[in-house]
Amino acid sequence: MSHVWTPEVPKHNLHLEFNDTTKEAYLYEKQPCNKVRCLLCPRRCVIAPGKVGFCKVRKNIGGTLFAQSYGKATHITTERIETEAVHNYYPGSKILSLGNFGCNLDCDYCQNWMYSQFEYAASEHIHNYSIKQVIDMAIADDIKTLSWTYNDPAVWYEFVIDTAAESKKYGIKNLFKSAFFLTSEAVCELLKVIDVFAISIKSMDEQYYRQFTKGWLPPVLENTRLVHRSGIHYELSNLVVTGLTNNNDNYDKMINFILNDLSADTPIHFTRFHPDYKYMNCEKTPIEDVVAACERARTAGVKYPYVGNVFECERLNTYCPSCGELLIRRYGLNTYIKPSLEPGGKCAACGCQTTIVNIDPDDRRLEDME
Ligand code: SF4
Repeated sequence: MSHVWTPEVPKHNLHLEFNDTTKEAYLYEKQPCNKVRCLLCPRRCVIAPGKVGFCKVRKNIGGTLFAQSYGKATHITTERIETEAVHNYYPGSKILSLGNFGCNLDCDYCQNWMYSQFEYAASEHIHNYSIKQVIDMAIADDIKTLSWTYNDPAVWYEFVIDTAAESKKYGIKNLFKSAFFLTSEAVCELLKVIDVFAISIKSMDEQYYRQFTKGWLPPVLENTRLVHRSGIHYELSNLVVTGLTNNNDNYDKMINFILNDLSADTPIHFTRFHPDYKYMNCEKTPIEDVVAACERARTAGVKYPYVGNVFECERLNTYCPSCGELLIRRYGLNTYIKPSLEPGGKCAACGCQTTIVNIDPDDRRLEDME
């Protein structure tokens, strides 16, 4: 199609360098002839000895599946939780964001393609970390949440699970930001250690998933229902891509899924897209489009619709779903929790109990942006 552009960045083919037997993968089964079947994501790749799966980071070495990217980070950065399209959980709090490389999808418009697409990742950007080093970094910077993000943490699964379990001992929470293209077995294990999920649903159209992400939709929706039933906090996002998903049909299907299968309390972030990777020959999503999506959701009964990747807009704010009082004001990634939001999550104006989690008085921004 006319939008596709091939990046002129050298492919590094790191898989030729990796023969790392440090960490045996979780969730796989042995097959005849020393093959293995990975059970981490719905592809369920059958991998011959010496080969890797679709994600290029899980390798069969001598009939055992190894997680080649265990402990290898390309990014570790301090950010605010709003960066992750999470507005109703510890609003304004600091997070330690961690990313690595590889992905079990290949979205044509990926905004982290230089890391998520394994062939483009450069070895000089990859550094080894132990679980203890990650936890020490968080504690040293007084950070209460680790955020597994950038590339899809699905393919960093073992390190995420191990670090999340250990960090709990220090009172640290874990946020998992993912396209959620996983098996239900994998999600069930995550539910034991993850405190908040940021789930990116790319579209509500199966053909779209197959064409633009190389994945498929049903497991994503089923996994989202699973998280909803677990009671663990989660928020949804939908990247509104110019010419692909900036239309009422997409918005309405997303809104109906929330209202029929999840809850009116589920926050949804309609996020603005910028041209990237193979999808370059188009415009940034007009701000009016993500605002329109939000308004459509609000009118239909969704209580916490937001825009994303927009610097200044009323729809970045959180309003009381009952009386409309402004509770949290945002400007870029700055967050000001208004006195109208009580520490327990109640609206001071009307007494409505919101679903906003863990408002820590220490996290309130002191400067009033008004
Ligand atoms: S995680 Fe990777 S190796 Fe495993 S099934 Fe998915 S793409 Fe294949």
